[in-house]
Amino acid sequence: MARDLPIWKVADEIVRHLSQTNRLVLVAPTGSGKSTQVPQLLADSDLVAGKRIVVLQPRRVAARTLAARVAWERGGKLGGEVGYQVRFEDRIGDSTRICFVTEGILLRWMQNDPTLSDIGAILFDEFHERNLLSDVALALCKAQQAAARPDLKLIVMSATLDAEPVADYLAAATRCPIVVSEGQMFPVQVIHPLIPADAPVPEQAARAVADLIEAGESGDILVFMPGMGEIQGTLNAIRAARLDERLALIPLHGELAPQDQDLAFEPNPLRKVVVATNVAETSVTIDGVRHVIDSGLARVARYDAQRGLQTLMIEEISRASADQRKGRAGRTGPGTCRRLWTESNHLNRPERNTPEIRRADLAETVLLLHSLGVRDATQFDWLDKPELPAVARAEHLLKTLGAIDPTTNHLTPVGRKMLRLPMHPRFSRMLVEAQRFGCVEQAALCAALVSGRDLLVRVARDDKHVADAREEFEGSPLSDFHTLMRAFQFASEHRFDFETCRRHGINAKVSREVGLTHSQLLSLAEREGLTRRHGFQPGESAAEQKPAGQDGRPTSSEEGLLRSIFTGFADQLCLRLSSGMLDVQLSEGRTATLVRESVVDSPMFVAAMLKEVQNRSGGTLTLVGLATAVKREWIEDAFPEQLQIGLHHEYDRTHRRVAAVRLVQFNGLTLARDHQKELDPIASGRCLAEAFNAGAFELPNFTHEVKQLVARINFVAAAAPELEFPKLTDHGLTDALAQAFQGMSLTKEAQAADLRSAVFAHLGRDKREWLDALAPTSIPWTTGKPAKLAYPSAALDDEGFVQSPEAQVKLLDCFDLTEHPKLVEGTVPVRLSLTTPDGKRLDSTTDWPSFRALAYPKLRGGLAKKFPGFTWR
Ligand code: ADP
Ligand code: MG
Repeated sequence: MARDLPIWKVADEIVRHLSQTNRLVLVAPTGSGKSTQVPQLLADSDLVAGKRIVVLQPRRVAARTLAARVAWERGGKLGGEVGYQVRFEDRIGDSTRICFVTEGILLRWMQNDPTLSDIGAILFDEFHERNLLSDVALALCKAQQAAARPDLKLIVMSATLDAEPVADYLAAATRCPIVVSEGQMFPVQVIHPLIPADAPVPEQAARAVADLIEAGESGDILVFMPGMGEIQGTLNAIRAARLDERLALIPLHGELAPQDQDLAFEPNPLRKVVVATNVAETSVTIDGVRHVIDSGLARVARYDAQRGLQTLMIEEISRASADQRKGRAGRTGPGTCRRLWTESNHLNRPERNTPEIRRADLAETVLLLHSLGVRDATQFDWLDKPELPAVARAEHLLKTLGAIDPTTNHLTPVGRKMLRLPMHPRFSRMLVEAQRFGCVEQAALCAALVSGRDLLVRVARDDKHVADAREEFEGSPLSDFHTLMRAFQFASEHRFDFETCRRHGINAKVSREVGLTHSQLLSLAEREGLTRRHGFQPGESAAEQKPAGQDGRPTSSEEGLLRSIFTGFADQLCLRLSSGMLDVQLSEGRTATLVRESVVDSPMFVAAMLKEVQNRSGGTLTLVGLATAVKREWIEDAFPEQLQIGLHHEYDRTHRRVAAVRLVQFNGLTLARDHQKELDPIASGRCLAEAFNAGAFELPNFTHEVKQLVARINFVAAAAPELEFPKLTDHGLTDALAQAFQGMSLTKEAQAADLRSAVFAHLGRDKREWLDALAPTSIPWTTGKPAKLAYPSAALDDEGFVQSPEAQVKLLDCFDLTEHPKLVEGTVPVRLSLTTPDGKRLDSTTDWPSFRALAYPKLRGGLAKKFPGFTWR
């Protein structure tokens, strides 16, 4: 009886809190009744004023089975009072009040109705999983509640969550109480192997099932496997073991037909062995389980930097997940949990899962946020902030794909169309383009071909058969996708037969997955009307929807497919450095090497694969592959706003002159360069100045005198910064020269320029007069003849002190000095370099009186002996 479930013990507390505040965190162990009872509790209360109650589920299977269960408990039909909606199914009717939906569905609803006006409460179920979309949904709902919907109730539910951080996050503006329900748990004995086993995980699991049965243990068995393939493998291995007892072998995963999913929950006269993905970890409860066998693995969505794509990867689960899985065996009585990993491995595992937002590819999310008016994802109020570089990468990609306007940062019409296709923006961009050319089906296949693992195995040198087959598949030198498409076609014609595929170098399992992904992508495209050619959407102008070819240029769907692939990977445009070679230039000044297997020979192409590998010397090498030839017109047609056309001036070392070129650039890559006759006088002068700075030529007019002039200006700038003398170091000098060379384009013109006047011009007339007073070329001297000053080329020394200019004087002539000579209004002493009567350097000082008092007496005797004819005072 549902009313016996532990959650009802805290029902009054939940209702009391929700009548006073609109945010609540509810923590209760799996099986307590959170998912099935709390929505009913709300529906039967007067807390939501007759509005809908939405229960967010991370998994489709869970949304479906929970809705079915609750409908059954309330004696109704699905689609009546209780319903569900997931990506490909909608069982929500007009009268539906309790809706189980996946997060993506709620976010779509928000696009149509941002305030969620007909929803009274949203329950974030399984929040401990920290899905990217549940984080996004919670943040958006929190903002909505604070703005337009103060009455909306938000309830975060979880089995394991550390409730405090979420409660703190939700409590920012209002109160957020935490309700905890202690569930009843029986002890579960955990068994680890002593040493890691070699056999594949499905076989190890089958062995564990056999051991349990042979030991005479009673009760149903739940096995955790990472994915569909391993689940099938496990079931096959159990069958192959030919156990004495008849068993009900039941798979449970998201790809099953609805009626097959139900088998896991229904009572069975035979002992049930349910082999499930992590959907059975906390999302759904299977009654009667006494034994858990855990592979310790899960398929996790990861951003694969190699492909620049999100992929599912098999990973070791955290200790927190393993504990949840163990708990499934202790709900109805004491149980056992066999883990297929060692205890020391267990201790090395992370304590809990990383929130997906900290590791996922954010491109699709950032696009979605833009559609909801959130233009800066980094400033958004997150529970855990995403990493800045990940957001920046996503923004950059969306701008390059043309989904976000680079100047206004607003969603473009193309971006709005992409948004309707819930898939990675690369793929939605491809499909939006493909619609123009009527090749959506092929484009969806190409997207499917890059969304998983490699379809083709690497050809071994000695495998002639596979090598011949590969050549057969190689269709045209325009795109490596043609090869993949033909290989997939072959595999599909041979019904993905393992052996046939293997002999032709195709991974049969991957091709089967490609087929599934292809039909999923295609049904999404169909639902949005993309497969209907020229299908106009209401509310769109005809221009936005303009099919290609109508502007007079003929296009085949063959070319259309290449153009679609190009748009999805436009950020990975490659320019071959020289024809016939594999080295290419990428955007942002990067270089890469095209894989040898590529059939594409054109000078410009996009790569759908990009990965970093270690080379032999330990450095990294960027490899690109899955190439598709690109024509310049396509870039101009698809991304006109991203083309940068500009006049650039370059110094031509061979002809010793400046040349002007008109550059057409896309994403920093130069698509075209044409020499121009007309030069821009200012840019040309600057170009010469920079060329000199880079050591391209000498300037004979940059004489000692001019250099001293520069040094004097820099000296004043350093000694008296308040006077704002224009510094002539690095940039300053180049600026002055650029000005001097204005209108010139030949090196010899620059060499003839009057640099002295140029430096004076740079200084300005008023400062020129001060210069002589502040930093004279010489100082009056005791002999009556002025002493010349030499200014150091660097105004400051290594420690940042102003360096004194130097005057070479005879020590004998210093005796008449009353005061040490100083410059810049008495602030900087001159360095006196003291010599013997015959001009040999003795010492130097910036403080003559103290030199005379301290150092001189020690020198005096020696000097008097060596130069007896003088008076050594
Ligand atoms: P929680 O969300 O706290 O993990 P649920 O609300 O999913 O708990 O489940 C509460 C109880 O309802 C379970 O212990 C189980 O006994 C029962 N139950 C839930 N779903 C089903 C189902 N599809 N078939 C049979 N029993 C179910
Ligand atoms: Mg639940």
